[in-house]
Amino acid sequence: MVVDTTARVWIFTLVVTATTLMSAVILNFVFFPRELLPLSLKATAGVVLIVSFPICLWVARQMHEKAILSQELQDLVNRDRLTDVATRDFFFARLTEFPDAYGVSLMIDIDHFKRVNDTHGHLAGDDVIHAVAQIMRGQIRDVDIVCRFGGEEFVVFLHRATADEGWIIAERIRERIQAATTRTATGDVRVTVSVGGSMKERIEHVDKAIKRADDCLYRAKAAGRNRTVVDWVVQNQDERRRVG
Ligand code: GH3
Ligand code: MG
Ligand code: MG
Repeated sequence: MVVDTTARVWIFTLVVTATTLMSAVILNFVFFPRELLPLSLKATAGVVLIVSFPICLWVARQMHEKAILSQELQDLVNRDRLTDVATRDFFFARLTEFPDAYGVSLMIDIDHFKRVNDTHGHLAGDDVIHAVAQIMRGQIRDVDIVCRFGGEEFVVFLHRATADEGWIIAERIRERIQAATTRTATGDVRVTVSVGGSMKERIEHVDKAIKRADDCLYRAKAAGRNRTVVDWVVQNQDERRRVG
């Protein structure tokens, strides 16, 4: 039993105390002569309540503390503290858990971010990274994952998304970020992102899909930044964006 709530502390304590009490009562019937039973039962009940109950409560509280600590540690591993999106470790753990997941992988990197740090300072840069992550989170569904891959680079996995959906969401993320302004202590900051996208097939390892998305990201940077490059053919790009 995982004692992760106060209610469970009490449930654990009462169940263990009641079990101890019942076992003690049964032993009384087995070992004590009938005439001594009234006295021995009273003594047993007293001992169980005075000794067993506080010990059970103490053990339950220790288990509760441990469960909370373990949950906090797990959160540290799973959630990136600056952006509140998933960590790279969480991302790979999830996709290793479901190796035949398929969909669209997007690799997203903020353009000329060094300039933001140089002009506005590192703390303002942190605010911008946080804001960009929140925009991405706002564009995906619960089944998708957005993770901070490192620095100011993110990976978005669109679970079971088609090529068309992948293109539309990638462009929507890029356009929303381009349109957003982040207010920081040292002034307003606007940034753009470059996006690389790849389709992950069921049988393909996630590393390969990420590598192909990264190659596309590199091409997006080389082609002038603030654009999306994907490893599939997109027809009628403007029309698809408008429909999506
Ligand atoms: P490019 O368009 O080619 O991506 O140019 P860039 O300046 O963004 O280059 P690059 O992606 O290589 O640089 C990333 C910079 O992001 C370098 C580093 O100082 C900064 N950075 C990485 N992590 C953090 C962070 O957590 N906070 C802040 N404020 N800056 C970070
Ligand atoms: Mg960058
Ligand atoms: Mg980078």
